[in-house]
Amino acid sequence: MPLHRRTKIIATVGPACDSVEMLQKLIVAGVNIFRLNMAHGDLSSHSSRVYRIREAAEASGMPVGILADLAGPKLRLGRLAVDALECQAGDELLLTRGKVTTEPNVLVSEYEALLDEIQAGDRIIIGDGTVALEVRSSNSQQAECVVVDGGTIRGRQGIALPNTRLSIETIGPKDYEHADWATILNLDYVSLSFVRNQEDIHQLRQFLKSKGSHAAIIAKIEKRESLDVLDEIVQAADGIMVARGDLGLEVDIATTAVVQKRIIDSCRVENKPVIVATQMLESMHHAKRPTRAEVSDVSNAILDGTDACMLSGETAVGQYPEDAVKMMSRIISEAERLVPESILKARPDKSRHGDITEAVLQGATQISRGIGSQVVVVVTKSGRSAMLRSKLRDKTTTLCLTDSDKVAGQACLWWGVYPFHIDSVEDEGAISAAISKWNDMAGVINSGDRVVIVSDRRAYPQGHDSILVLEIP
Ligand code: PEP
Repeated sequence: MPLHRRTKIIATVGPACDSVEMLQKLIVAGVNIFRLNMAHGDLSSHSSRVYRIREAAEASGMPVGILADLAGPKLRLGRLAVDALECQAGDELLLTRGKVTTEPNVLVSEYEALLDEIQAGDRIIIGDGTVALEVRSSNSQQAECVVVDGGTIRGRQGIALPNTRLSIETIGPKDYEHADWATILNLDYVSLSFVRNQEDIHQLRQFLKSKGSHAAIIAKIEKRESLDVLDEIVQAADGIMVARGDLGLEVDIATTAVVQKRIIDSCRVENKPVIVATQMLESMHHAKRPTRAEVSDVSNAILDGTDACMLSGETAVGQYPEDAVKMMSRIISEAERLVPESILKARPDKSRHGDITEAVLQGATQISRGIGSQVVVVVTKSGRSAMLRSKLRDKTTTLCLTDSDKVAGQACLWWGVYPFHIDSVEDEGAISAAISKWNDMAGVINSGDRVVIVSDRRAYPQGHDSILVLEIP
């Protein structure tokens, strides 16, 4: 059990780590949450993956959460006349209606409304961002574009339109189908791509609620316009992902590190967990060791105060999925030694004045420091107290005892929190037994140690959270 590491690791599942054996190796190496990328694969293969993840988690005896990442409205080019269309700055290209073209130097898009929505002056970014076009003029049938940054264009490549307000729904029919599937399989998290505003989150929440889902919602920040209403989105969602892949197409790539810091800061203010994603150890697709710059990138995300780092292709299709997780775990552990005090403390200016649970947790943290507690146990039904404790960024391990599968799964994302299931949060005997059972694996509590326990159960009718110090005989 990697109790030395507080920041969590998310690994994307794909052909490179599909077997129960490999999934188990990744859990042992440090994965806390597995991500299913719903943009690829069909539902039956995703269902099999869920069963294999659960089998691997069961076998390893470690709690693991599962995140379904909804694809959202990814725009793509249609089929082009040539496989690879080479273009240079200054070249002129025509964008026309339809999903297929046989004309050279003509582009088409799968998004039918594109020509109705772009205007002269808009930018069209293609693929990984190498190629950029500017719209010179447009009407309902075609748009004249000039190449600003040249490169190779291929059919079906993704396109980003950072300056264009698109009418396409953020949650499409496929996303609803996938959210429904995630509900049936009781997944812990659902993330939504290309979120534009808080309404998108409310809409998804309403849908999940109507289906009886308990999944928490992660808003992926990857649209320029979402940055204009960032705080509102952070308030509406249960967590945030800095989706740097598409974000790097929508904003000037030179600003991505600064934008990342701003997003993490907003999450700290609102007490919401945050994930930094994409290209963290990109070179480990094909190499056993990362570049120095990648090591710095992961370390800096930790110093920024992220709750979790995510691996994408590195674990899904890379040659060294286990090495990538081990490396990420090592980098995180080293960086955590240096997490500055300013990050370790919740921002006092924004901590909700008068919030009893937050005040009790601050008190419990003081007590734990005063008596040198190795573990702070949070007994919780709703999970809120464990989440708030995570946001205090206290280095002492938080053991989250809960009788809720939902909380146990979601707590896998929270910085410094280790979830463990108990049959009842009301029963003192069950709490002591659970601490002892957990310690059989963790081995951090010794005879004579003092353990601080915070509980959200009500000992009195008007009572609130309580703090108790347990001396281990
Ligand atoms: C991203 O764009 O960074 C991201 C995480 O989303 P996806 O992998 O779905 O493109």
